[in-house]
Amino acid sequence: MDSERIITRLRAEGYQIAPDYAGADLVLVNTCGFLDSARTESLEAIGEAIEANGKVIVTGCLGAEPDVIEQAHPKVLAITGPHQYEDVMAAVHTHLTPPHNPHMDLVPEAGLRLTPRHYAYLKISEGCNNRCSFCIIPKLRGDLVSRPIHHVLTEAEQLVRAGVKELLVISQDTSAYGLDVRYKPETWRGSAYETRFLDLAKGLGSLGVWTRLHYVYPYPHVDQVIPLMAEGLITPYLDIPFQHASANVLKAMKRPAKQDRVLERIQQWRRDVPDLAIRSTFIVGFPGETEEDFEILLDFVREAKIDRAGCFRYENVAHADSRALPGHVPDEVKQSRWERFMETQAEVSADRAKRQVGTLQDVILDGPGDEPGEMIGRTKADAPEVDGIVHLTGAANFKAGDIVSVRITDSDAYDLYGAPA
Ligand code: SF4
Repeated sequence: MDSERIITRLRAEGYQIAPDYAGADLVLVNTCGFLDSARTESLEAIGEAIEANGKVIVTGCLGAEPDVIEQAHPKVLAITGPHQYEDVMAAVHTHLTPPHNPHMDLVPEAGLRLTPRHYAYLKISEGCNNRCSFCIIPKLRGDLVSRPIHHVLTEAEQLVRAGVKELLVISQDTSAYGLDVRYKPETWRGSAYETRFLDLAKGLGSLGVWTRLHYVYPYPHVDQVIPLMAEGLITPYLDIPFQHASANVLKAMKRPAKQDRVLERIQQWRRDVPDLAIRSTFIVGFPGETEEDFEILLDFVREAKIDRAGCFRYENVAHADSRALPGHVPDEVKQSRWERFMETQAEVSADRAKRQVGTLQDVILDGPGDEPGEMIGRTKADAPEVDGIVHLTGAANFKAGDIVSVRITDSDAYDLYGAPA
């Protein structure tokens, strides 16, 4: 998203995007500074760009720690932090004079996106008011700052007008949207909207495209969007980063939402919206996690039928408060818990996939597959890049972005197979 914004600005000013280091006058490296592994990767990417090109500007999360970058790569031309778009542009201007005649027309209506044309990420806020003990995002990005709701809805409308069929709502904490501005009332298309999660969902739901909600915490008011899903206005998909299910571990993690009644609520959601898919992320091997805590987690994944899940082995992130917690779990225990988690979740996922066989599903096509006439797509239960896919035969007449009614004929652990109905 940040890369897309920067690229859009660069293109708007007439700069061209080079496909490789060799042809570039300047290299911009957008970094991540959250996990240690991502920091290492970012530092490596900077090193690679310096070696291959020599003229490098660094931006993104790791830019909040310029000393780390300068120490590793003293030849970097400039360093800017996350979301400092003006500073990035100023650094580019200093080291590469802007072309004389910017061709504004080169920029598509909705800006140049790195994602395919038919889906787009919609960022509704920056930062986070929570202080989960394993996370340094609030230290890097600050407290929650919500974008005004009429700006978000107008951007969504422009994206839809430019051909987007699927909106992916992202933030650090989507359900907290508007809290920082005390749910400020605004006007969009002549109607009153408060800057809050439910109004946002209603506005987006009126645009007639698939809308997926990511990073939703199970605060009580989340229940209010379930009727919008039942009505078909919002895609029946919730990405809720539970991280764990054991009360002890959640307490040590300092998670914002209580786990009480979560299972009951999920069961109610599923009664109201039978197709609902729930995606989540979890951390195994958190400091203090016992075998009993871990089994509570496995039971939760089975009982709540967490359809899609990412699972991470706990990593001791620099500057995270969780480093100081007692009871760090040995690596081999983390690994074995991770494997057991993945096995359990694969069973849940395979079970859902099997239940889809024989049904008709709307599938959004992402592009051609490996076989002649094959297209790859996704049902409403699958977000791009992270979830399962549908392999579609006999689909040569369709193109990316088409939404096709598909008869599902087969399944495996994560993917479905079918043909246009
Ligand atoms: S909710 Fe917790 S994990 Fe998510 S960004 Fe905020 S502090 Fe980090």
